[in-house]
Amino acid sequence: AKQQGRNTYQWYASDLNDEANERVELRNDLQKALENGQLVLFYQPLIDSRTGRVRGSEALIRWYHPSRGLIPPNAFIPLAEDTGQIIELGTWVLYQACRDAVRLQGLGYREHRISVNVSPMQLRQGNFSQKVTDTLRQTGLAPELLELEIVESAILYDTEQVIEHLRQLRALGVGIAIDDFGTGFSSLSYLKLMPVTKIKIDRAFIKDVISNRSDAAITQGILSMAHHLALEVVAEGVETEAHAAFLRKNNCEMLQGYLFARPMPFAELLDYLGQRSTS
Ligand code: C2E
Ligand code: CA
Ligand code: CA
Ligand code: CA
Repeated sequence: AKQQGRNTYQWYASDLNDEANERVELRNDLQKALENGQLVLFYQPLIDSRTGRVRGSEALIRWYHPSRGLIPPNAFIPLAEDTGQIIELGTWVLYQACRDAVRLQGLGYREHRISVNVSPMQLRQGNFSQKVTDTLRQTGLAPELLELEIVESAILYDTEQVIEHLRQLRALGVGIAIDDFGTGFSSLSYLKLMPVTKIKIDRAFIKDVISNRSDAAITQGILSMAHHLALEVVAEGVETEAHAAFLRKNNCEMLQGYLFARPMPFAELLDYLGQRSTS
């Protein structure tokens, strides 16, 4: 790769095979996407399981590719992690999400929290907590209204530095959620060390929670452990009324999934919130 300017990279693909070519093309396109505003954030509401009220929403990135159409994150986030582009992408996501959160504030949704996914590579940057602090200051968002979602594996790397970043952010009031909980094969002892405020049970356990006794036992076990540690729990992938009923019965505080709403553009989120608050 030849660096041409601060954020401009040109990749030469001549002697690579098709799959690699495809990746190189995607990587070049992603660089253009970052520069040309083809990336957008969708938002999916998080519902309070007792009251049914919207407590916040999770920002989920989408890419409107000029020729390929809408590309889901699983098709480009792993690539962006390989190339290091995740740093620039993550910076954009954080800034945009905080700005949208400030807009929600201005519209009267005073307690609406925004959750932002953070890649392990971002956390391993030496200045991560400073970057988040700067973004909060630039956008004027109250730290209590931002929550960072972190996968378990992120915590296994460079633990000291990562814990220090999270401590600083936690001290400001930023929430820290462990994402995809239960899928990381990691020791649970880190939960004692980490300034974590919330756990998100992965959709993989919720999917068959009604029919599969192991999934039900794991879900109940996670809920019980989390509550003993005074952590809130969100269940991902809540698709049916039966899922929601099971989770309510087991005191899962928050529910997220297609049963309530799919991820949607910001303008649609405003409509959704408006309809719910008047009906
Ligand atoms: P995640 O953080 O576990 O996000 C939840 C995924 O489940 C989202 O997929 C969401 O659309 C989907 N989902 C929500 N409710 C349901 C449901 O009821 N049923 C089913 N089948 N799926 C549901 P999405 O938006 O495609 O995102 C996939 C992954 O991409 C995310 O998984 C996250 O790991 C990553 N991602 C998304 N946005 C960002 C971002 O801004 N930064 C980073 N680093 N990663 C992101
Ligand atoms: Ca997430
Ligand atoms: Ca997940
Ligand atoms: Ca994930």
